[in-house]
Amino acid sequence: MFSQKQALLLDMNSTFMFDEDRFGETEDYSIHYHKTGGLLPKKEVNTIIRSAYAYLDERYPDEKYRYSFPSVENAIQKTVACELENNEITKIVDTFSFHEMGYIPDEYITALHKLNYKYKLAVVIDIWSPKSAWLKLFSESGIEKLFAASSFSSDHGMVKPSPEPFAQVIAQLAIRNNQGLVVGDSIRRDLGGAKAAGIDCVLVGGAEHPDAMACYENLLDFCHKF
Ligand SMILES: [Mg+2]
Repeated sequence: MFSQKQALLLDMNSTFMFDEDRFGETEDYSIHYHKTGGLLPKKEVNTIIRSAYAYLDERYPDEKYRYSFPSVENAIQKTVACELENNEITKIVDTFSFHEMGYIPDEYITALHKLNYKYKLAVVIDIWSPKSAWLKLFSESGIEKLFAASSFSSDHGMVKPSPEPFAQVIAQLAIRNNQGLVVGDSIRRDLGGAKAAGIDCVLVGGAEHPDAMACYENLLDFCHKF
């Protein structure tokens, strides 16, 4: 079915990373923040992060921000009641990214290596925080060299389903659209973005849609087909 495909353009969250976005009402952000040496009291730091999260969460589905999604730092500065010192902002952004980032199960790390025998791999990732924490995790997990191309939305502010991040990765890979295959869990963001960019897509994670080339329970299931 995928005989002409040379490269997989992988989504990250809920595709090979899980338990991301821990921003529930009961989260205590001060635990991580105080470990980083932050000086603000618990109540204040929790309010700052909840407000910044709400600011971004409201805008994430809004088409108006598809090509200019705000950064976490920008969201903090827009919502904070009083001025913060730069080193405090850095610690709050670090805390935000700690709660935004999930983990990569070992079997998914193995699957990525296995898929890389057959395909060039790339990632098309929407994250709100700067990418440094994710790059560190990729490196610690031994997968950083698997990705021949990448797009992180927080680098350029373009979020899926904009077709642009997909088009940029296709250009980085120097392949034609019909040689790429998007693999993601979201009908709207991954399938929608892939379709808008003119690239085939398979869904993993349980969602099904007639526009997808195929649908799999998860990335491991997709990987087992090879
Ligand atoms: Mg996803």
